[in-house]
Amino acid sequence: MVIEQIKARGVKDSRVLAAMANVPRELFVPPDQLPYAYEDRPLPIGHSQTISQPYLVALMTKLLAPGKKDRVLELGTGSGYQAAILGRLAGRVYSLEIVPELARSAALVLRTNGFRNVRIREGDGYKGWAEFAPYDKILLSAAPPEIPAELLAQLRPGGRLVAPVGVDAQRLVVVNKLLDGTTETQTILPVRFVPMVRGR
Ligand code: SAH
Repeated sequence: MVIEQIKARGVKDSRVLAAMANVPRELFVPPDQLPYAYEDRPLPIGHSQTISQPYLVALMTKLLAPGKKDRVLELGTGSGYQAAILGRLAGRVYSLEIVPELARSAALVLRTNGFRNVRIREGDGYKGWAEFAPYDKILLSAAPPEIPAELLAQLRPGGRLVAPVGVDAQRLVVVNKLLDGTTETQTILPVRFVPMVRGR
């Protein structure tokens, strides 16, 4: 049903829809939210955080266009749902989460469900994950006031970053890093994500 809604809203990419159909969202929601796992809206996952709305997961994944061999970095693991979808489409996925308990539970869910190409670590998304840089694709699941320069530095020339950006009025943007290192930014639509908080 969610797949039908996502299609109706314009995401028709067959690889993305197959990945969405293939990864049960119920694995990533807390027990009290299970009845709503297949509703197209964000749900609370504890620690004042939410699992993203399926439509936005699908749209951001489509915009990111992860290739089979791509190395992808996600900032803001949360439940691990978006990371799992990326894992079905990309070569390797690295995802950072600032709340230690969420990083731990997402890593456990992914491990016990066979998402072997997804690696989760507790860390501050503003700093990225230098160890495995450069990345072909970078996806932000929380909104910074502006695109962090450090993340653009960890993006391969020819690579792409998709992110919600802004403080009050957020917008979803696609940033293409050209081969000469300059960037081109395209605004997609207004969105509302949790803010990307500063680590200490
Ligand atoms: N992709 C997630 C969405 C989770 S909401 C999912 O599908 O469930 C965004 C997440 O970003 C929250 O878990 C929040 O704790 C995390 N976050 C916020 N600021 C962060 C930062 N600076 N670094 C890493 N994670 C951050």
